[in-house]
Amino acid sequence: MAYVIAEPCVDNNDQSCIAVCPVDCISAVPGVDRKFYIDPSNCIDCGSCEQACPNGAIFRAEALPPEWAGFEWVDATWYTDPQQARAAIEGAYARSA
Ligand code: SF4
Ligand code: SF4
Repeated sequence: MAYVIAEPCVDNNDQSCIAVCPVDCISAVPGVDRKFYIDPSNCIDCGSCEQACPNGAIFRAEALPPEWAGFEWVDATWYTDPQQARAAIEGAYARSA
């Protein structure tokens, strides 16, 4: 299991989580991605990012609120098919004007 970044990160870019991750497994492409993504194959479950996130966006995968359960798939998919992960975010969350 890994940690997962859910809906509150969409269009928030403070990056507090990245600063504390000891294995650099949180990524996004600036100007392209609307959220950050945790690599489930490298996350060591330390929990530091969950504590650091000011928006309450990060959860253990098994503790995700039901309405955000799909973000486990989104984060994992971004590392193999980022376009598919981005499409899921665009489809679910309209950009503000
Ligand atoms: S739980 Fe730890 S290792 Fe996993 S993404 Fe967060 S800070 Fe990085
Ligand atoms: S600290 Fe939270 S809101 Fe900020 S980039 Fe990381 S996951 Fe997103």
